[in-house]
Amino acid sequence: MKKAFQFRIYPNKNQEVVLNRTLSTCRHLYNNSLGERKKQAELNKLRVDFQVFPWGKSEWINYYGQKRDLTTTKTPYQNEVHSQVLQDVIKRVDRSFKNFFNGFGYPRFQGRNRYNSFTYPQSGFELIDGKLTLSKIGNINIVQHRAIEGRIKTCTIKRDVDQWYVTFACEISAPSKIEVKTKTGIDVGLIDLITLSNGEQIEPPKFLRASDKRLVREQIHLSKKKLRSKNRNNQRIIVAKVHRRIRNQRKDFAHKTSRVLVNTYDHIVFEDLQIKNMVQNHHLAKSISDAGWYQLMNLTKYKAECAGKIVEFVNPNGTSQTCICGYPVPKDLSIRVHRCYSCGLVMKRDQVSAILIENRSTVGITGIKACQSNLNREAMKQEATLLVGW
Ligand SMILES: [Zn+2]
Repeated sequence: MKKAFQFRIYPNKNQEVVLNRTLSTCRHLYNNSLGERKKQAELNKLRVDFQVFPWGKSEWINYYGQKRDLTTTKTPYQNEVHSQVLQDVIKRVDRSFKNFFNGFGYPRFQGRNRYNSFTYPQSGFELIDGKLTLSKIGNINIVQHRAIEGRIKTCTIKRDVDQWYVTFACEISAPSKIEVKTKTGIDVGLIDLITLSNGEQIEPPKFLRASDKRLVREQIHLSKKKLRSKNRNNQRIIVAKVHRRIRNQRKDFAHKTSRVLVNTYDHIVFEDLQIKNMVQNHHLAKSISDAGWYQLMNLTKYKAECAGKIVEFVNPNGTSQTCICGYPVPKDLSIRVHRCYSCGLVMKRDQVSAILIENRSTVGITGIKACQSNLNREAMKQEATLLVGW
């Protein structure tokens, strides 16, 4: 299984210039390759046969074709970038299309401030004596605050406004499965709150809200600055830094919460947010909190796997509208207490949902239900690559 290790790196001024230039070269390649693929996707819709395509090719372009093109024609800028890094860019284009066909958004062109990472997929990097050696870039200082486990597979360099990070994806051996003694279902709320099936609730610290307000304020400032002005760019950096702080605070909360969950429970059942969102309406402005929930779920899953424990995602349809006894108890969002007229159960709404989620667990049960939950996990994995990828 894979495990990621992230460290901060400290490039000097010259190295930072090269790193930025590498990002820019990769971004141009990404956008050009994406342009090619988009153009042919449009043509493909017309279902016409071509002898020669408008851009002079005799066949449809795919990942392999674009990779081949890369070796034959290289711009001077591309010559300054490690060849596998460029190939990985083509891979990202391909992945963005695959994700699209799996139900995610149509691939987008990437702006200067959106494209922030590049990857050495196999070689071209080395980690020796507190220095990270990158092919075509140089030796960069690194602060390695913990030991790397397993074998390093890929090395990704990431820019975060004015900071740089390296992430090593390592292959480690899977731990042996432990015997399940404790189990819980978890309901994630519309508001920032999670509820366990024993009624326990975990609320993120208040400062997350405070930062959100600051973000809104800074974004309003940004919208008032003149386009392409120096002021606007400065404000953009302020907004990006606020974003970064919020992201780090959320990540911190997700790390701590997932650690507590995995230490306490051997088998954790979450609702599958993807299915939930497909059914519910999208006007609830859930995207921000959802990103946080995905992160929490992915981290929990990841930590559980490392500990030989189980995390499962189940279809949450109807878990807010039914009683544990099976009797339908329809209730809109304003109703926080569940009252069943059949069995007389009175309980916190979210706790009932958490219990129903726990009861839908299919691990250990074979057949169609188990199969479906596997599918859900696949979908989550896709989402994970989208979020973590870059
Ligand atoms: Zn009931």
